[in-house]
Amino acid sequence: MFRTHTCGEIRLSDVGKQITLSGWVQRIRDKGSLLWIDLRDRYGITQLFLEEGAESAELFAQARELGREYVIKVTGVVTERESKNPNLPTGEIEIRLTALDVLNISKTPPFTIEDKSDGGDELRMKYRYLDLRRNPLQHNIALRHKLGLETRRYLDSKGFFEIETPFLIKSTPEGARDFVVPSRMNQGEFYALPQSPQTFKQILMVAGYDRYFQIVRCFRDEDLRADRQPEFTQIDCEMAFVTQEDILNSFEGMAHHLFMHIKGIDIGKFERMDYATAMKLYGSDKPDIRFGMPFVELTDLAQNKGFNVFDQAELVVGIKAEGCAEYSRKQLDALTDFVKKPQIGAKGLVYVKYNTDGSLKSSVDKFYSEEDLKNWASRFGAAPGDLLLILSGTADSTRKQLGELRLEMGNQLGLRNPQVFKPLWVTDFPLLEWDNESQRFYAMHHPFTSPKEEDVALLETDPGKARANAYDMVINGVEVGGGSIRIHNRDLQKKMFSLLGFSDEEAQNQFGFLMNAFEYGAPPHGGIALGFDRLVAVFAGQDSIRDCIAFPKNNSGRDVMIDSPSVIANTQLDELGLLIKTQS
Ligand code: ASP
Repeated sequence: MFRTHTCGEIRLSDVGKQITLSGWVQRIRDKGSLLWIDLRDRYGITQLFLEEGAESAELFAQARELGREYVIKVTGVVTERESKNPNLPTGEIEIRLTALDVLNISKTPPFTIEDKSDGGDELRMKYRYLDLRRNPLQHNIALRHKLGLETRRYLDSKGFFEIETPFLIKSTPEGARDFVVPSRMNQGEFYALPQSPQTFKQILMVAGYDRYFQIVRCFRDEDLRADRQPEFTQIDCEMAFVTQEDILNSFEGMAHHLFMHIKGIDIGKFERMDYATAMKLYGSDKPDIRFGMPFVELTDLAQNKGFNVFDQAELVVGIKAEGCAEYSRKQLDALTDFVKKPQIGAKGLVYVKYNTDGSLKSSVDKFYSEEDLKNWASRFGAAPGDLLLILSGTADSTRKQLGELRLEMGNQLGLRNPQVFKPLWVTDFPLLEWDNESQRFYAMHHPFTSPKEEDVALLETDPGKARANAYDMVINGVEVGGGSIRIHNRDLQKKMFSLLGFSDEEAQNQFGFLMNAFEYGAPPHGGIALGFDRLVAVFAGQDSIRDCIAFPKNNSGRDVMIDSPSVIANTQLDELGLLIKTQS
């Protein structure tokens, strides 16, 4: 028998019992005639103890030979510890060894298997099996398992079927770049890995499976921005005979269930905000509403006073940092540097200090009287002690820049507590996005998203203005999911493809199967997909999804443990019809 117990479960009440444990050697403390070993498994750490003379000399000598991460099986008697460790659930006991078997030896690991490891990212990924032994990773993997389980439980209780859709599908140019797989049996032809099961889940609705979900891998061959993975997991869902309201309520219910059952937190009712408001007040389509600090526009008050920068700006807009009037020169310079970083791209930052004595002092005193500044302050609803931070320029980019500054101020003022969760639905996204470079519209969500009924006429006159029945679920400034009510009418879908620059033939070629399905009684339907990796990270209170995935890829899309992607043999290429034969 390898074990009677795990390394996490022995307590004071077990004192006197003879037990057997198996696990990895975490640490050895050799004090000459006394020796302690921390034995670790998935469930915890148990301290083992040996005393020279008390045990057999052979056992003691054997223990001395152990190294970190050796796999051992031990038998011994549970005893009460002299110096207890209140930080460890097993901290009141230790095991006095009577027998020890080395089940396997280990090389010294290239980094420490501790909560805070000394290993760099690449090294930890190369030896992922060692990294996965660490507590923080185990915690994330356990959390991920529980989230998956509770998701299934909730959706099952609401009548959803989990249905698998294929991984080998057809390449479409819309959206991100596809990963493709060559077909051996159909040489010169390729499958694509799904960016999402979007069209399949819609077809399932046509097929009458009116509540579908799948916890499913999706593949996108995008340049990897920080914290994107080429393969990632979605909780993908679709429902028929529903309105947008039904979907928002269903998945608000799911989020509720998850927070309740996994964190014991009631996250309350979701706030709702339309896209236009989110952009105007927070400069972001995924505002972090754990704190306020909404934008205040000053264009009318700030212009025509001789300050060229503001006079030429489309928008002058700012935020109020409460109680920050005492910010030092150095702190203000740092904020200016922050907004001028190339990733943010502002040209400069104007500040107004509303001093506690009631006086006002700004970085543009030359152009504005104290009276002017008073007017600004009153528009902000500012009180003595507050600091106003103001940016200007073209409307869209200035709002984005100020959005970043708002988040930075939120960080500096400790307003973004990772233990507080504030969910939000952002609704009424624009249907289309104009791309200047290619001079065409792109679907902001995807081409199957329906326009708002009252905006359908705009598709003929001013398509860029049409709003969509599309929504995002946002928690603490993180977009955890998005979806839409779909088009279920063949003609409207055709119209949409043509707005997106598809000829009839191209549309038929790429999405004919869906359009054909729409001719056989497609019900009204809609759905959503939540980013599962991201959801785990939000629950874990972490910024990065990488440590929420057992085997992630690095920033260049490589799996450095198995060393993939890799070249393949010529015989394999030949079989696939991909071997380029060079003439000798
Ligand atoms: N398939 C969409 C996505 O991957 C989600 C949806 O519209 O349901 O973003």
